[in-house]
Amino acid sequence: MALYKQDFAICPWCNGESGCRVDHLYNDHWGGFGPWACKECRRHFRGKVNAPGEVTVERDKDATFTSRQMVLLKIEGKACPVYFVMDHPRYHHNGKVESDEERQGSTQFFFEEHSCPTNWLDECVAVIDDGDCDPHGFLEFVRAVDVPDDFDTDNDANWITLFPEAFPADKSIDGELTPAMLQKP
Ligand SMILES: [Zn+2]
Repeated sequence: MALYKQDFAICPWCNGESGCRVDHLYNDHWGGFGPWACKECRRHFRGKVNAPGEVTVERDKDATFTSRQMVLLKIEGKACPVYFVMDHPRYHHNGKVESDEERQGSTQFFFEEHSCPTNWLDECVAVIDDGDCDPHGFLEFVRAVDVPDDFDTDNDANWITLFPEAFPADKSIDGELTPAMLQKP
């Protein structure tokens, strides 16, 4: 059979299929997880892996839930601004719906200051360039490089080694590496 199965948590609020996968925690991460949002009712729960295939879940006490919103982000492109549309959940902390003004402020803080884009770029559902919703070629290709399967993407020094042209010439990582030292001919 060309099939395999995965384990997902049942939501302790709605008893529905939460969409939250847990079996990736079985190998080396026994312990607590969450709060995660149920895809059915959007309320939050926490859980614990007691053993592979044995998971307990409980409702998150602060009653935080999410609703769906779209967020528009912008970067200056070659000729005009390029817009990114993000399918990013709106959080209602402690079950309280904040005003639109508060939401704009907290969402701006989230995207511009609080978080690294690598955490949410996969939420992008549209790119709009000069009114074109199918904008081929708004990004310029620079270079492709082979890496081993276990390449460590959490180690910043790896990026300067791999793509020195993406860093200013005098930028150093750990006070040692600079692109000038590494620039490929
Ligand atoms: Zn639920």
